[in-house]
Amino acid sequence: MDYEPVIGLETHIQLNTQTKIFCSCKADSWVAQPNTNICPVCSGMPGVLPVLNKMVVEKGILLAKAMKSDIQDESFFDRKNYFYPDLPKGYQISQFDRPLARGGYMDVPVPAGYIRRVTIWKMHMEEDAGKTKNEFGRRLIDFNRCGVPLIELVTAPDIRTADEAAQYLIRLRQLLRWIGISEADMERGHLRCDANVSIRPVGADYLNPKTEIKNVNSIDAVKDAIEKEIGRQKREYEAGRKVEAWTLEWDEDTQTLKKMRSKETEADYRYFREPDLLPVLLDNEWKERILANFPELPLDRRARFISEYGLPEYDAEILTGERSLADYFEAAVEFYGGDPKRISNWLINDVMRLLNSGGIPARDLKLTPRYLSEVVRLVDSNKINVSTGKSLLEKINSTGKSPNAIVSDEGLAQVSDDQSIRLVIKEVLAESPQEVANYKNGKITLMGWFVGQVMKRMRGKPDPLVVKTILEDLLK
Ligand code: ZN
Ligand code: MN
Repeated sequence: MDYEPVIGLETHIQLNTQTKIFCSCKADSWVAQPNTNICPVCSGMPGVLPVLNKMVVEKGILLAKAMKSDIQDESFFDRKNYFYPDLPKGYQISQFDRPLARGGYMDVPVPAGYIRRVTIWKMHMEEDAGKTKNEFGRRLIDFNRCGVPLIELVTAPDIRTADEAAQYLIRLRQLLRWIGISEADMERGHLRCDANVSIRPVGADYLNPKTEIKNVNSIDAVKDAIEKEIGRQKREYEAGRKVEAWTLEWDEDTQTLKKMRSKETEADYRYFREPDLLPVLLDNEWKERILANFPELPLDRRARFISEYGLPEYDAEILTGERSLADYFEAAVEFYGGDPKRISNWLINDVMRLLNSGGIPARDLKLTPRYLSEVVRLVDSNKINVSTGKSLLEKINSTGKSPNAIVSDEGLAQVSDDQSIRLVIKEVLAESPQEVANYKNGKITLMGWFVGQVMKRMRGKPDPLVVKTILEDLLK
């Protein structure tokens, strides 16, 4: 029998607020020593009161807008009760039946060539728990992460392959960075994914019991874990057994899934309203203020780069990979005024290398969009040749000087008058009788060597094409 996977994802997104969700401790503890970034509120001392951080609501609204979700004018916090050492209060403050937003969707382009529309069920605000780890033969607890603000985003089971799940996460990460609400660094746990997986006969309209895979912390691991679980469930059904609703844990070291426990039901958590927090009420004025500068989203911008600038899809995809790069491109095109594809080529082939080696966003380059457009114009007008242009980019980026200043300071302007090039070529030929003879005897691959000699002697300034033309003429 053929089976089709049915996959829904729950992601926990760590917001990049300054402070935690219900107290004024710093939200980020990446470099802090264990249990140093805590206070009575987030470490669950008796009698303390939580105060909601407004920024958490604002960032949540941005995400809801990006997902075309229905933002709820009134939402509530609840207590989710469970006992675990990393949860000092004995409950997590979360939202249950009245979340911040419901509905919406995300379109996910899949490399196989189609778009998977993933429905969003709901998104809610909640606090993170602490961390436990085994060290020195003991179980240790770090409460620094308690109270770090999270948005939990729950999708419908619309995903059909492990690759679609991976692509969903890639697009979600891009979107979170794009709207500026999370660093979305999976290695640092800013984006944590649980996958609900079941399979059913192709065409069936019912759902079989699902398992929940927890603790998958990279996109590759999500893909691997889902593929393994699909395979396991197939083997169970084929052997005439049933799949039970387990919670599974992905073990990164052994690349295997282990059974953690039978899955809890909602009743196990004894949800009830958090009595220490007021409902979250959103008025139109606040919503409008939050959404006032809402950006054009990546896929829309990608489509516009294709239609407005005539870019190939490949270019548009790369240039909209990150918002600051897309902004950079558009600014450079505006300064340049010529064919946008020229700017795109320079960006993708050369400027991206500077970005990757510097590990910085495009907005922080010393090579500004204006300078890039000036370099491309210098090349267009043959004032400098392409290779000078490329080395110019690095010089501008390390010094912050303008292209024209560097060209005139270093005498980089291209030598285009034939006479001086001819003189140098004649020198080279006179000093290389053996190579000239070999060339004339048919070893035409020596042409590249001759061009190189001339370029070297003229410090790369002449146009290599002009050099080659004159060489061919003189070697006839
Ligand atoms: Zn605190
Ligand atoms: Mn949660």
